[in-house]
Amino acid sequence: MQIIKTIEELRPIIKGWKKEGLQVGLVPTMGYLHEGHKSLIVKAASENDKVVVSDFVNPTQFGVNEDLTSYPRDIDRDAALCEAAGAAVIFHPEPQEMYFSDNCTFVDMDALTKGLCGKTRPTHFRGVCTVVSKLFHIVTPDRAYFGQKDAQQLAVVRRMVRDLNFDITIVGCPIVREADGLAMSSRNTYLDAKEREAALILHKSLALGEEMMKAGECDAVKIKDAIIKNIGTEPLARIDYVEIVDSETLKEVVSIEKPVLTAVAAYIGTTRLIDNFSYEP
Ligand code: AMP
Repeated sequence: MQIIKTIEELRPIIKGWKKEGLQVGLVPTMGYLHEGHKSLIVKAASENDKVVVSDFVNPTQFGVNEDLTSYPRDIDRDAALCEAAGAAVIFHPEPQEMYFSDNCTFVDMDALTKGLCGKTRPTHFRGVCTVVSKLFHIVTPDRAYFGQKDAQQLAVVRRMVRDLNFDITIVGCPIVREADGLAMSSRNTYLDAKEREAALILHKSLALGEEMMKAGECDAVKIKDAIIKNIGTEPLARIDYVEIVDSETLKEVVSIEKPVLTAVAAYIGTTRLIDNFSYEP
């Protein structure tokens, strides 16, 4: 496996693969990889001849007071995980490789990005759409793999690919959790022991909501209130949002009639975590 830092080095490798008729899978990440990322890479390796993992903490998707500088990084550990999972290349550029100092072109989206995480992170999805578009142009993959963990991101990327006619199949992959249910995240490393315990309230409260839906409850407000109340029992948790939305449009629903996404974002101490589940009535 190769670690490639520049676009100039990466392009001929990809062109060589394409000449041989090989299929290419892309797994975009911000590094500090865990089993959740690994599941995407393993799936990509099973469906493609070559897998490129991008490992890049993308500055344009962070807001001014967010954790861009403190975001955890460990390329050596990431390289070992990628190799074990079957990647051919890690693309690990510096920010100046990805963005010209006078960069003035962005990819933005009108719908899907205003609610959920977009409410408190108004520039986040512009950064995501921009960097994912750039990676698509650089790597020209046949397939790209995204986790359901970032459900809004997955919906946004699918829509962008449709709207901008990228000839790429987007593959959504299930959430990988710790044994106790906490959704794996690079940001879990910020949690101290007490916060790690407290963070379980997100999964537990979502599971409660899912049980209500499975038992036939259709009133989204009732389910949402039960989730909010349950998270409220954990003193270290502060809710950013709890929403039940249409899986495709991401618009709030009042009644569970079509496939829905129930998504939560909450601060555990100072760490903002997200989790969700999908439900089809
Ligand atoms: P990140 O490095 O956090 O930007 O994540 C890179 C990709 O890995 C995204 O598509 C995420 O949705 C996915 N991912 C992160 N955590 C998990 C998880 N626990 N289970 C499945 N996919 C995940």
